[in-house]
Amino acid sequence: ATPTAIMVGTGLGAKRGVLFKNAVAVETAARIEVVVLDKTGTLTKGEPEVTDVITDGRDQDELLRLVAAVEHESEHPLADAIVRHAERRGLDSVLAEEFENVPGHGAIARVANRRVVVGNQRLIQREDIDLGMLAERRERLAGSGRTVVIAALDGRAAGLIGIADAPRETSTAAIAELHALGAEVVMLTGDNQATAQRIAGRLDIDAVIADVLPSDKAFKIAELQRTGRRVAMVGDGVNDAPALAQADLGIAIGAGTDVAIETAEVVLMRSDPLDVPTALRIGRGTLRKMR
Ligand code: ADP
Ligand code: MG
Repeated sequence: ATPTAIMVGTGLGAKRGVLFKNAVAVETAARIEVVVLDKTGTLTKGEPEVTDVITDGRDQDELLRLVAAVEHESEHPLADAIVRHAERRGLDSVLAEEFENVPGHGAIARVANRRVVVGNQRLIQREDIDLGMLAERRERLAGSGRTVVIAALDGRAAGLIGIADAPRETSTAAIAELHALGAEVVMLTGDNQATAQRIAGRLDIDAVIADVLPSDKAFKIAELQRTGRRVAMVGDGVNDAPALAQADLGIAIGAGTDVAIETAEVVLMRSDPLDVPTALRIGRGTLRKMR
């Protein structure tokens, strides 16, 4: 594109809070065929709230107190939601020892002399724990679009915590616009398949890549690129940075983490998913002008 056309493009973007960091990004935006979006914090508000506490029969508060003790040491947004929920219920905090963070899985610690494992199914499987009678409840909760955190005490499944994170108001409209631009829309998430599938269905997303470890997000982008198409990745988290770098075009949510914003070539200052199709349209408009 001519320098003038590019300047007009970046200027137009800036006015709408779509920051292109360089000229090449404007041209790449014009040629995107697949748009991959992270789920949590990108398509959703990233404000998880506990909605359900299910136990194996023991008192809910007893379970919550132990789980919150572990999550108190974690920096994960899900951990935050659980700690806040425990506080709202007025539960006193207990000390966790020997805390171990397991990225993409959950966390483990000793609380009140018990080994408390808190995380997803992958972690529970890794620990060789059987969900038993909680298996069916877990499936139902996940099928309703909740993220399910499983808690185990001393090697036995003890409860489930259902967490909801509402989609951003404009997510559905953004996906419809991306479709109108001819793009395939893919959701990429570390969350489980059933939860992701339910939310993706509501938003009319074409494909779901779920249960992805933080270290594998970039690899999934590379796989899509191997189909010969140009791929944009939209994300907000530390987890997303390698995928943003791998994509032909990395787009960061302005409210996201510094690492994501630094890695991406485009930053959406308003954190509005609708600005993803806007970015692609600005790219296309710029290319048209230079012809
Ligand atoms: P994402 O942000 O895409 O969900 P993460 O890799 O951060 O990806 O987390 C993947 C999954 O690992 C979460 O959905 C959750 O099931 C589990 N997980 C990670 N950390 C925690 C934690 N501290 N407590 C409970 N579950 C966790
Ligand atoms: Mg995220």
